[in-house]
Amino acid sequence: MEKGKLIVFSAPSGSGKTTIVHHLLQQQDLHLDFSISATSREKRGKEIDGKDYYFISPEKFKKHIEEHEFVEWEEVYKGNFYGTLKSEVERIWSEGKHAIFDIDVVGGLRIKEKFPEKTLAVFVKTPSKEIMEERLRSRKTDSEEKIKERLAKADRELSFADKFDVILVNDDLEKAQKEAAEMITQFVS
Ligand code: 5GP
Repeated sequence: MEKGKLIVFSAPSGSGKTTIVHHLLQQQDLHLDFSISATSREKRGKEIDGKDYYFISPEKFKKHIEEHEFVEWEEVYKGNFYGTLKSEVERIWSEGKHAIFDIDVVGGLRIKEKFPEKTLAVFVKTPSKEIMEERLRSRKTDSEEKIKERLAKADRELSFADKFDVILVNDDLEKAQKEAAEMITQFVS
């Protein structure tokens, strides 16, 4: 589909970006489909293979890299690889939809670099770092060690915010979701 666009949502963990992306996917009039990333990390909680991620082995991940099958990929956390397969974006466009991404800040900017005109890159942030930490702890899916790792990564991620097309401050979730839907409607029309 010629008109297919790419809508990237990137943010430090705990910013609420995943909740916002899920909300947007339910808005039929936006014609969005979630770009399912491939990852070599273990499945967590209620995650489903082929829905949340394509959970693949590190060996298979490396094979996709060697065969140039990724739009972008990255070792987001040590030993854990994440990437967007070209076939995934093509699948979404062929269905007449726009691809929406919930990905790492660096990966998000790579997509913007590869498709500058077709990408709307949105950086989601919490009003403060304290709120981010509070949200990370309340979701109770990560160990203390993982939470510390995610917080340490956040400082670097925040420094990239200005490179995005838009910074969306997630203070009031409903308001942030409404703003996100409006900016997408405007971008794709
Ligand atoms: P989690 O392990 O919490 O699901 O995700 C860890 C990080 O990897 C998040 O910041 C998430 O957005 C990012 N991520 C997920 N998929 C991709 C991808 O395809 N490429 C990149 N670069 N990052 C991704």
